[in-house]
Amino acid sequence: MTEKKKLKVATTSLAGCFGCHMSFLDIDERLFTLLEHIEFDRSPLTDIKTCSPDCDIGIIEGGLCNAENVHVLREFRKNCKILIAMGACAINGGLPAQRNHLPLTTILEEVYHTSPGLANGMIPNDPELPLPLNQVHPIHEVVKIDYFMPGCPPSGRRNLEGADRSVGRQGARTRAWPDAL
Ligand code: SF4
Repeated sequence: MTEKKKLKVATTSLAGCFGCHMSFLDIDERLFTLLEHIEFDRSPLTDIKTCSPDCDIGIIEGGLCNAENVHVLREFRKNCKILIAMGACAINGGLPAQRNHLPLTTILEEVYHTSPGLANGMIPNDPELPLPLNQVHPIHEVVKIDYFMPGCPPSGRRNLEGADRSVGRQGARTRAWPDAL
């Protein structure tokens, strides 16, 4: 008997707090059952650093606050058949977008120069640091997103429902996470 091919799932956290990933782990021991149907590719759960070119599903936590976020998002869009925005930060910028009503230079000055307790502060300028964007952006402003999973974070139950549907255990196989539309 030929073994059913597992869905390849990649995940990443951009400008997020990893809370959405933690929520995914809230499905507890059901994660083991899920792993009979999916395998993780690039993800903080595997520490694989680049996306394989044949991923079935990409799950993005967090919005875009710097140039590296944009680069990673484009890598996911290029390599994943279906892309899912997971959580408020990916969908509308979330908490990090609170900075959008202030100029970036004002924020950097306050964080590194004028906050109480700072002495001889300097704004980090190592060339290896990704350039910050002037504003935090939701990911759909840069690439096409197939599904949106709202919440801060989406509940573990919602994660499991979506995963169930993706692997076809609730009837005919559908596209991923249709409940989140
Ligand atoms: S949506 Fe909420 S839980 Fe998810 S990354 Fe943003 S702040 Fe964290």
